[in-house]
Amino acid sequence: MIKYVEVMVDVSVEQVDRPFTYKVPERLESQIKVGRKVLVPFGRQRVEGYIIREFEADEDDFEFAVKPINKVLTDYAFFDEELLKLAKWMSEYYQSYLISSLKAIVPSGQTKIKTKQVVKLAQSVEESKKLLDKISDRAYKQKEVFSFLIDNPKINLTNTELAEKLETTSGIIRTLINKGYLQYVEKEVKRNPHSHHNFRTTTPLDPTPEQKVAIEEISSALEQKESSTILLKGVTGSGKTEVYLQVIAKTLESGKDTIVLVPEISLTPQTIARFKGRFGDQVAVLHSQLSAGERFDEWRRIKFGDVKIVVGARSAVFAPFNNLGLIIIDEEHETSYKQEDHPKYHAREVAVKRAELVGAVTLLGTATPSLEAYHRTEIGEYKLIELKKRIDDRPLPTVELIDMRKELKTGNKTMFSQPLQEGMIDRLKKGEQTMIFLNRRGFSTFVQCRECGHVMKCNDCDVSLTYHATPNILQCHYCDHKEGVPNICPNCESIYIKYFGVGTQKVEEGLKELFPEAKVARMDVDTTRRKGEYERILSAFKQGKIDILVGTQMIAKGHDFSNVTLVGVITADTALNLPDFRAGERTFQLLTQVAGRTGRGEKAGEVIIQSYTPEHYSIQFSKNHDYNGFYNFEIETRKFASYPPFTHIISIVISDEREDKVIEVSNLLSDIIREKLNKIDDEGIMLLGPVQAPLSRVRGQYRWQLLLKGKELEKIRKVNQESLLRLNELSTLKTIKVSVDVDPLGML
Ligand code: ADP
Ligand code: ZN
Ligand code: ZN
Repeated sequence: MIKYVEVMVDVSVEQVDRPFTYKVPERLESQIKVGRKVLVPFGRQRVEGYIIREFEADEDDFEFAVKPINKVLTDYAFFDEELLKLAKWMSEYYQSYLISSLKAIVPSGQTKIKTKQVVKLAQSVEESKKLLDKISDRAYKQKEVFSFLIDNPKINLTNTELAEKLETTSGIIRTLINKGYLQYVEKEVKRNPHSHHNFRTTTPLDPTPEQKVAIEEISSALEQKESSTILLKGVTGSGKTEVYLQVIAKTLESGKDTIVLVPEISLTPQTIARFKGRFGDQVAVLHSQLSAGERFDEWRRIKFGDVKIVVGARSAVFAPFNNLGLIIIDEEHETSYKQEDHPKYHAREVAVKRAELVGAVTLLGTATPSLEAYHRTEIGEYKLIELKKRIDDRPLPTVELIDMRKELKTGNKTMFSQPLQEGMIDRLKKGEQTMIFLNRRGFSTFVQCRECGHVMKCNDCDVSLTYHATPNILQCHYCDHKEGVPNICPNCESIYIKYFGVGTQKVEEGLKELFPEAKVARMDVDTTRRKGEYERILSAFKQGKIDILVGTQMIAKGHDFSNVTLVGVITADTALNLPDFRAGERTFQLLTQVAGRTGRGEKAGEVIIQSYTPEHYSIQFSKNHDYNGFYNFEIETRKFASYPPFTHIISIVISDEREDKVIEVSNLLSDIIREKLNKIDDEGIMLLGPVQAPLSRVRGQYRWQLLLKGKELEKIRKVNQESLLRLNELSTLKTIKVSVDVDPLGML
């Protein structure tokens, strides 16, 4: 019998989306393990790959000559059987190559271990002591260096560091090395990106009665053998983080590991400090600002059991723990949990699956659950735990809705309503702070009447029409309906109909004009591109060096500013009018999060929301902090229009720089799918499109889109998969890109 391995090679094309078999030469046998990286011959080249299976067979079991692997590249595995299972599940669920899923799991970029040459005794301490006497007293510097190392044999210093410490020259140290008294040894260096931070230690707070119940219920789930998912729905400021910290402590007590996912944007030093402050060096942090080397080192600290807790963004869900007890996903509803590249996974789904594989608990926390998550508590898939009160019974802020249509009528043509202006003046006088929030998504793409608030929508799809400057039309990006841009409002015949969108820069300028003496700052993707800039603005704001902070989504996230007593929302409507069935949900979540930024200190908070459609249910329910009201309304709409969570959607985007080819392939694919649907005759499956995608051209690539919708994911996945195979057989245009997104979050 000879040893063989199956390897997934690092080449992502259709034809190689399967394991290849290689022979293991005897000299490499002891190094073979699932998850290790190997170098293998592939065609005329050599490529890297990962071992996914080892087995024994006879040479004549194969009908072809099996090539041997060239080299085993690592002495550790990048994944174990459990993570391999997870990768396979991901590939199947999200319809992507297994190698793509594996690469999502392993640390990316350079994965070299960093070493340094440190100076050590060449003999044992005893031997060295004898040698010490042989050095003449005149060479007192040599003696000093040598005896320092005899006293500190474990110290890891390079020649330069040692010379510096003992105020001598590296020549002296080299002499001792040449004499054979000392030697150089390669030592691994672990880059610790947070070593320079000092985190203030915290101890568990006395839980409130609500927190106590939550902690007990989660703890009892942790004691079960079976996996489970819990949704912790707590209003902003209700102390969810303290609940996390105390259940992590329980997990630690039982000897198990915890993964904490937070949205990338919330992975700030403040957030990290909350976990490091409680658990110190047992915490590793994974985020995209780390260099590849730093990431790799953190990954190794997790892998080799140096830490028990990981805090990180989306991809930390793959942290290589082998005794996982708990996965926490903070702000579960955040869209950044969905990966935009293949595999286009959602961290919540992956977490639940991973927990299922090992019998762990998934804890989802948020003030505004996604419709999917809350729906699952209703059908009994997830358990629901609620925190209804803010800490210290602080009231939720009062929300005032301003009807911008009326502002226009009273002659105010600026973007700041009268009440918002007065509110800011009042705060400036009192030395309190204001946050002005602007939703940048949906920039300039929809058409709305400023007098009655009417938004141009598609009659069939109930999503807003998207404005295209050339050739000056309105288009539905679900069904391709097109119409001209009206000159007067079809609802009230006003001529104040306009294309929407103001930028943060314009708001900042407007504020500086209104309040020349106030300190105004802006925070958005443009002003925070430079590393550290985000932090700088926030800390200036915290220290009171900024009176009014203007920002996008970025300022809506879990910051705790006790002096912010006013939050203004410039136009609540922008997100509402995206051509996306989730627009109402996004708007509700955003407004609720933004409102949660105020009134977190002793002083009460106030929120002013400006809108052209204040009667919209998303805005009304968020005014009253009424999640359940919102949910009950929204879920009916989803049911009625057959949208998730009642159906699954697969989005297929065809793209290329030649538009005619994109259209040709899109039509061909749609014909294939329709033919298939006719055959299986399942009324539950629908095909929408092909239509030009809302983002119709990205980096010179024309994009067209098809949407498959159906009750059972299995079924539409099968239709999709078979159709794409068929397309591949029929189409001569193999270079056209076809990108599949299962359960897409954004419809753009
Ligand atoms: P959430 O994440 O639900 O918005 P936080 O976890 O940020 O809320 O908690 C809000 C504030 O209340 C924080 O400053 C936190 O330190 C404090 N806090 C949480 N739990 C308690 C408690 N049991 N006793 C006193 N203060 C608490
Ligand atoms: Zn109108
Ligand atoms: Zn439509």
